[in-house]
Amino acid sequence: MNELTSPRRTRAEFPRLNGGALLPLPATITAIKEEAYAISTYSLVFDEAVLQQQYHFRPGQFNMLYLPGIGEAAISISSDPDRPDHLGHTIRFAGNVTRAIGRLKVGDVIGLRGPFGSAWPLRRLHGQDVYIVTGGIGLAPLRPIIYHIMHQRAEFGRVVLLYGARTPADLLYTDEFESWQENNIQVHITVDRADEHWRGQVGVVPMLFYHLRLDPGKTTVLTCGPEIMIRFVIYEALARRVPKERIYISMERNMKCAVGFCGHCQFGPSFICKEGPVLSYAQVEPFFGVEDY
Ligand SMILES: Cc1cc2nc3c(=O)[nH]c(=O)nc-3n(C[C@H](O)[C@H](O)[C@H](O)COP(=O)(O)OP(=O)(O)OC[C@H]3O[C@@H](n4cnc5c(N)ncnc54)[C@H](O)[C@@H]3O)c2cc1C
Repeated sequence: MNELTSPRRTRAEFPRLNGGALLPLPATITAIKEEAYAISTYSLVFDEAVLQQQYHFRPGQFNMLYLPGIGEAAISISSDPDRPDHLGHTIRFAGNVTRAIGRLKVGDVIGLRGPFGSAWPLRRLHGQDVYIVTGGIGLAPLRPIIYHIMHQRAEFGRVVLLYGARTPADLLYTDEFESWQENNIQVHITVDRADEHWRGQVGVVPMLFYHLRLDPGKTTVLTCGPEIMIRFVIYEALARRVPKERIYISMERNMKCAVGFCGHCQFGPSFICKEGPVLSYAQVEPFFGVEDY
């Protein structure tokens, strides 16, 4: 690694606070929690106290995380929206930027700009049964809405999490499942491949629908995860007569500017960074599954 590619840069290399959506601002890593193999959650705090106080996000939104000399990656905010004192980002070390973030330590500085994008439709969920259906790291952008629901539990009907991962070791946030259940959130877990200790369900996430009887008249489905999983989740939800307008998807697309300029994340007529990432199935149906549209 040379001077240019080293992720360890000093605060002075980040621009000072100016509020521009294109300008990454320095934030310090205050905690790192390993969640699973090659996935960790980074807690970030803006160096500028005023900015930290002013910063608010809605569940489902994302930030652009930046390392000088390496690049930027879109990362969902995975922490509690009512606890803006730290911003959680659960990151899979997948490519250039995320692997470089994986080499950082507590006290190191990252550039952050955001929040960007659309959010899960909080108001439309009031009075509804909410099915949160997700696989792998797809739980990260849904965790803020789980916290939100816990804070205002009386506003929602039945709340059910259907979550799966490849193996038990790949499941995220397992230490929180108990508190979610204590807040009257049903948690159904499945894995593709069990290990010798696993006593739970084995199979893919959409199969978890088979055990449930849902009321399509008052159900909203929120889903995020691998596209193939999302496709089958939509299929299962539609088969149970959940309206298209009540199935919400968080879409991932290659992202660069995050403000609707560059067109990298175009999906049909939408830019995922602006109109998305959260869109209803009614909005995306014509383009869903169409390659390189
Ligand atoms: C709205 C939104 C929210 C997101 N939220 C999260 C989140 O919460 N957590 C998270 O971890 N990710 C999230 N992502 C995904 C993340 O932005 C991408 O994975 C991003 O590309 C990572 O940047 P990178 O530079 O580390 O990877 P890149 O270098 O862009 O690599 C991305 C992918 O390409 C593959 N790749 C890289 N180089 C090669 C190569 N030479 N040959 C073959 N394949 C290669 C990598 O294996 C990886 O799968 C989100 C994306 C969007 C759009």
